[in-house]
Amino acid sequence: VARPGERSELLVCAWRGHATPGATAESLGDALAALGRPTLDGQRFVQCLRCGASIVVEPPAALDTTRVASVDEVARPRRGKELRQALIVRVIAVDRAVHAIAFASVAVAALAVRGDLKAVHGWATSMLAALTSARHGSGGASSHGAVAALLTRLSHLTPHSLLWLAAIAGVYAMVSGVEAVGLWFEQRWAEYLTVLATAGFLPLEIKALVDRVTFVRVLAMVVNIAILVYLVVSKHLFGVGGPRHAESSVELAPLPTLLPPAERGGGAEA
Ligand SMILES: [Zn+2]
Repeated sequence: VARPGERSELLVCAWRGHATPGATAESLGDALAALGRPTLDGQRFVQCLRCGASIVVEPPAALDTTRVASVDEVARPRRGKELRQALIVRVIAVDRAVHAIAFASVAVAALAVRGDLKAVHGWATSMLAALTSARHGSGGASSHGAVAALLTRLSHLTPHSLLWLAAIAGVYAMVSGVEAVGLWFEQRWAEYLTVLATAGFLPLEIKALVDRVTFVRVLAMVVNIAILVYLVVSKHLFGVGGPRHAESSVELAPLPTLLPPAERGGGAEA
């Protein structure tokens, strides 16, 4: 039964499977009662240390067992706030990976166009000419305005401007790629890099918005500012919100002691 705060635990358990060290422990004595209990019919009643689910499993094959002396030596999976933050940071990492791919494509496209600029110019100019004569014939079709503007821009591209575009897009793609990898592997430096790079690119985004306000530009800026604020506040970057160790020592909920199978259903709620 899920409490509202356990959604990330359930999500991760659905993705990676439950964390049930009791399922592979060599034997389940009283010292390991929090991990699981043997059932009367030779199976095991074990608890997931992440989401708290209790499940019945077959006992492990002799070769698959691990020796566990006490509950304290078992690796505890992340839970609660810590787990939620880890999930959000991975989502940010995916966002940065998408950015990296998109901007790398822009850089490659800019270099490709630059390599064959004559053909692109010729094509754009002839298309413009065709568009203009068509407009004269039909008495002016203003819906072609956007296409005409794009073609005009294409016909005015210079090798220099394309090189700049490729360079800026390339740098942005590389930084985003490094951020994505670092964030995915939960590196502290990647959190700082993401915040600094996002803040550093904000002037460009503001300039783009001043040039022309579009839904995508507004959305991109809102998302970037949200990521920036989230990382600074939740990860205590630059000393915001006090030292970080205060947060890593989040207390784990104590594991409920499972009742021995014989007493289950006996109504002995201690
Ligand atoms: Zn679980």
